Amino acid sequence: MQHVAIIGAGIAGLTAACFLERGGVKTTVFEKSKGLGGRMATRRTTDHQFDHGAQYFRADGKGFLAQVAEWSRAGVAAPWSGDRYVGTPGMTAPARDLARGKTVVHGITVSRLARGPSGGWTVYDSAGLVDAPGNGRFDAVILAIPAPQAVPLAVTSGLKLDRLSSARIAPCWALMIGAGRAVEISGGSMQPDHPVIAWIADNASKPDRDTAGSAIVLHATPEWSRANLELQPEAVASLLLEQVRQFVDVAPVPTYLAAHRWRFARVEHALGEPCLWNAAERIGACGDWCLGPRVEAAFDSGEAMARAILSES
Ligand SMILES: Cc1cc2nc3c(=O)[nH]c(=O)nc-3n(C[C@H](O)[C@H](O)[C@H](O)COP(=O)(O)OP(=O)(O)OC[C@H]3O[C@@H](n4cnc5c(N)ncnc54)[C@H](O)[C@@H]3O)c2cc1C
Repeated sequence: MQHVAIIGAGIAGLTAACFLERGGVKTTVFEKSKGLGGRMATRRTTDHQFDHGAQYFRADGKGFLAQVAEWSRAGVAAPWSGDRYVGTPGMTAPARDLARGKTVVHGITVSRLARGPSGGWTVYDSAGLVDAPGNGRFDAVILAIPAPQAVPLAVTSGLKLDRLSSARIAPCWALMIGAGRAVEISGGSMQPDHPVIAWIADNASKPDRDTAGSAIVLHATPEWSRANLELQPEAVASLLLEQVRQFVDVAPVPTYLAAHRWRFARVEHALGEPCLWNAAERIGACGDWCLGPRVEAAFDSGEAMARAILSES
C-alpha cells in the first residue's frame, strides 16, 4: 500500500491522512469546497466571525485527548466553557493543522471512482478524470464523507460497502446574527427546550474571536429543520429571527443576517462500527456517522480507518 486517495477534508478524512502518512503511506485528499474542516466551519464577514457548524468539541477517549492537547499546544484549540473546547481563532483551525504538509486538492466534487488500466483506483468528477498526482494508480480509496452522500457515489461506482446506508444524519438550519453590540447570554450559550430552537450561542464569547459586538449562532431543531428543509434561506432567516427574540434581545435590524442549511448535520443513527473496510476491493469509508454525532467520533473513525489500512500494508 503506497498511495491512498481520501475523499473529504473533514476531521475524519484529515485524521486518516495523518495516521496513514505517519505509517509511511502517501495520501491525496480530494475536497469539494475551498476550505478545510467540513462541518467544523467558520464564516467570516466584514465585522463578524461565526462558527455555523459544530459549536465546540469534547474529548473523552485517550486518542482524542492527546490530539486536543497537541492542538492546544499549537494554539489552534482552547477551552471555551467547562470541558468544551473550540478551534482558535475559528473552528476550521484544527483541520488546517491536520492538513499541514498533506496534499489536498480543492474544488473537486468526486462523482465516480473506477479502476484504471493498471488496476489502481481512479478519481473522476463531473468534468471527467481529475488531474492530480497519482490518479489512476491509487492503491486504496477512503470515502470520508457523510454516509448519505457516500451511498450514491458507491452506487455509481459499483463499490461494495455493506451497511453504508444504515447510518442516518439529521439536517440543521443555522442562523447567523451580527448584533453590532454585546447581547447578554449567560455562559455564552443556551439550549432551550423549544420546538424550533435547539441552540443559541454568542460566538464572541469564545476565545480568540475577532468580532464586533455579539455574533449569535442559532441552530434549529432537527424536526423544524426537516419540515422546512426546502425553504429559501431568506425565508428561514426571518422565521428564525422572530423565534430568537423570545430568548435574546436582538436589534430590529441586525448588522448581519444569514441562514445556512446543513442537509446532513448531526448523526441520528450511527453504524456502530469505527469504519467500513472492504479489503478485497481496497475501499473504505469513515466519518462521524460510524460512531456518533461528535467531532471526536469523526477523529476516532478516521484513525480506525487508517489503522485498518496500515494493518494490511
Ligand atoms: C450544525 C451542526 C452543529 C454541530 N455541533 C456539534 C457540536 O457542538 N459538537 C460536536 O462534537 N459536533 C458537532 N457537530 C458535528 C461535527 O461537526 C461532525 O461530527 C464532524 O465535524 C464530522 O466530521 P467528518 O469528517 O465525519 O465529516 P464532514 O465534516 O462532513 O467532512 C466531510 C467533507 O467531505 C466533503 N465532501 C462531501 N462530499 C464530497 C465529494 N463528493 N467530493 C469531495 N468532497 C466531498 C465535504 O465538503 C466535507 O469537507 C455539529 C454539526 C453541525 C452541522
